[in-house]
Amino acid sequence: MQCPICGSDEIEILNSKEKSSKKNFTEEYLLKCQDCNHVFKDSFSIKKPRPYRIIISELENSIKTTIDLSPSDQLEVGDILLSDLGQVEVTSIEIEGKRVKKSLIENIITIWASSIEIPARIGFSVDLHGKVDSYKLDLDRDFEISTKSIVKIDKYIVKIHVIKTEERKITNGYAKANVIKRVYSRPIKTKKYDYDLTNKIVK
Ligand SMILES: [Zn+2]
Repeated sequence: MQCPICGSDEIEILNSKEKSSKKNFTEEYLLKCQDCNHVFKDSFSIKKPRPYRIIISELENSIKTTIDLSPSDQLEVGDILLSDLGQVEVTSIEIEGKRVKKSLIENIITIWASSIEIPARIGFSVDLHGKVDSYKLDLDRDFEISTKSIVKIDKYIVKIHVIKTEERKITNGYAKANVIKRVYSRPIKTKKYDYDLTNKIVK
């Protein structure tokens, strides 16, 4: 804020009040310049939230709903929003005729997002010398799987040898469930294991 007479930014707030209209919240200030003693009014308003179209992907489904956001704010890919379906991460923003990484919310037509509350679904293959037993698992998104892990799954105790993520194949290392597509394993002869994934199998 600047004094309209002398341009100083040494401004004292004498008084402020909040007003609410149909579309805006407005903060009105009575101000005094510390340099020239000029008293003046200024105001700052933000637009009230209104519903925006949001498409949320959850596993194989997409759900269309709306979310209330203030048109005055910015939205960026990667932002976390609280929707009807819990927390979601913005994956794409559609404004008139194109997709952008960042926009003033006022210009947004559709928000695309993916749920970050639902578990991550991964594939789990057990190699039985040519024959494969294949499972689907729902895991916590942060759950780490390592290529050194020895795991109980269903009737098998297996050692993981390959983790395939969205971007690469890991033969030595680990990954979090939210980026894993499929885990490849082979049965081994042992009774000891690091953890049991049997109750994570999606029936
Ligand atoms: Zn002044």
